[in-house]
Amino acid sequence: MPTQLIPVICSNPSCGKVFFSKSIFNISGGAVINSFGMRCGPCPECGSTGLVPDGQYTATSQTLFRPDQFDVVMNALRAIAVNSSTHDEAVAAIDSNFGFLAALKPLLPKDATQLTQYLQVLMVGLGLIVASGSRSPAPVIQLDKHTVEALHSVSAALERIQETKQPQPQQSIQQEAKEEASEKEEPTPPKK
Ligand SMILES: [Zn+2]
Repeated sequence: MPTQLIPVICSNPSCGKVFFSKSIFNISGGAVINSFGMRCGPCPECGSTGLVPDGQYTATSQTLFRPDQFDVVMNALRAIAVNSSTHDEAVAAIDSNFGFLAALKPLLPKDATQLTQYLQVLMVGLGLIVASGSRSPAPVIQLDKHTVEALHSVSAALERIQETKQPQPQQSIQQEAKEEASEKEEPTPPKK
């Protein structure tokens, strides 16, 4: 049985590390499980316990993205995390450079600390999936159900971009995604 891992945010105010801990939930198929106020530990950084962000969790796997798509998504998340300290900046970064991440926009927390933690959870979680490579059984990463749904939309958006022009370097993929996003945002005039 593969190990199931759930995100935890260290409660020690001087630490705050985001890590994944062995989950008490065994989630199979498309099942969804509610987690509220669950504490996990120890934090690999400081040894304190942490809190699993409240939410409805479901399982993700390596089939979420193709390996090249994982790279594109991870690089985009990293760029957003490094360059954006506010919700508005993160949204602007997606709009101007990473249109394929549009589905994540409604999920980005308004609070700056929570935004950083959310991006960390995504990066650490996806990083664990990538790191597991062809290891079998690969660990199952549990993420918020809405996030997993959004990631499927991200995958579909990347698929649409890559379908039309292939193969192409990552820069062009991002450019295409941007164009696609701006097309979508074009408001349709109301019919009277
Ligand atoms: Zn800690």
